[in-house]
Amino acid sequence: MKQCYLIIDIARCEDCNNCSLACKDEHVGNQWKGYTAAQPLHGHRWINVARHERGQFPIIDVAYRPTPCMQCQDAPCEANSRGAITRRSDGVLLIDPGKARGRRDLVESCPYHAIFWNEESQLPQKCTLCAHLLDNGWAAPRCVQACPTGALQFQRLEPAEMSALASARKLRPLHPELATNPRVFYANLHRFDRCFIAATVAARRNGRDECVAGARVVLLRDGSPCAETTTDPFGDFKFDALEPNTAGYEIHVYSGDQPAVTSPVPQLEKSISLGTLWIAAVETVS
Ligand code: SF4
Ligand code: SF4
Repeated sequence: MKQCYLIIDIARCEDCNNCSLACKDEHVGNQWKGYTAAQPLHGHRWINVARHERGQFPIIDVAYRPTPCMQCQDAPCEANSRGAITRRSDGVLLIDPGKARGRRDLVESCPYHAIFWNEESQLPQKCTLCAHLLDNGWAAPRCVQACPTGALQFQRLEPAEMSALASARKLRPLHPELATNPRVFYANLHRFDRCFIAATVAARRNGRDECVAGARVVLLRDGSPCAETTTDPFGDFKFDALEPNTAGYEIHVYSGDQPAVTSPVPQLEKSISLGTLWIAAVETVS
């Protein structure tokens, strides 16, 4: 049986919050009988956009991560609900407003903090993946339709097909250590949970300071090359998606066959900018 999946590309999200607004437009003040009670006007973020900043001035980046209910296969909320949360055959989990009334404990049962408490109706509530629309022939939930950048993608696939797609596109679930088997997969999740090493390469030539474009840069770990890149037109380079809390890195910037400058990298506790690496002269990669 095909299951519902969301694929979220963090590199495409620009924090416009259209997804969140579309969710509110669909659910605030609207009671979708058989699916969910109305969402209150304030306090709920059924799809929340988290923000994360990495690096130090002048090389920093900021990423945005839309975060809805993960529609988990092994859902702690369902396990703790005593029948108040059920999973449909397409994988979508719904909270039954009749059985869940007064069950504030269900808010704490979600390790992703995807369940919100509605004080007025005394109900726990969360994203339904707009199941009421999907059941009426809509191709995708409102958030997906409202996203202007294509950061959100809705898929109906067999689990084996989703596995193959995740492997081909290097998609990952959020917090795999929670072992909840989510149906939401992320592209470019390294922008949230991995580190980068970056720097600018510059040279003094004829009394002028110039950034060096096209210089070959090699990243070594414990003395062995593990990645290679070239500087961009501004002399910047970045090695990304590195595991945090690792050590033993070194940067070599080459001029021809020889390193023109080498720089050890401190223990990589978080993303780091090494500042400007000065070289006397460099042959660039055309
Ligand atoms: S993300 Fe939370 S609310 Fe959603 S299915 Fe998983 S455990 Fe339940
Ligand atoms: S609508 Fe798309 S681009 Fe805008 S915040 Fe949501 S996911 Fe990001």
